[in-house]
Amino acid sequence: MSECPFCGWPDDRLVVVLSRHQGGEGETLWSRCRCGSLQARVVGVGGRAEVVARSRPVTSVAGSACRGGIRRTASAGELVRCVQC
Ligand SMILES: [Zn+2]
Repeated sequence: MSECPFCGWPDDRLVVVLSRHQGGEGETLWSRCRCGSLQARVVGVGGRAEVVARSRPVTSVAGSACRGGIRRTASAGELVRCVQC
């Protein structure tokens, strides 16, 4: 089981769900950890959610150009972690 690298909170214990988006490969779920880290999860077969990207805790991402350290690539529309922050 994976956990938050910043505060050690288990990823399967959702703190705050920000939004859900239905996509071609399944549901993308945005959540925020108790430390403020933004998480992008993809819900796959059987409802298993996998964290595919996460930002740093909210206190350290203020002023960054991307949204919470996560951006979407223009070509493939994939969620990737920003390399600039
Ligand atoms: Zn955390």
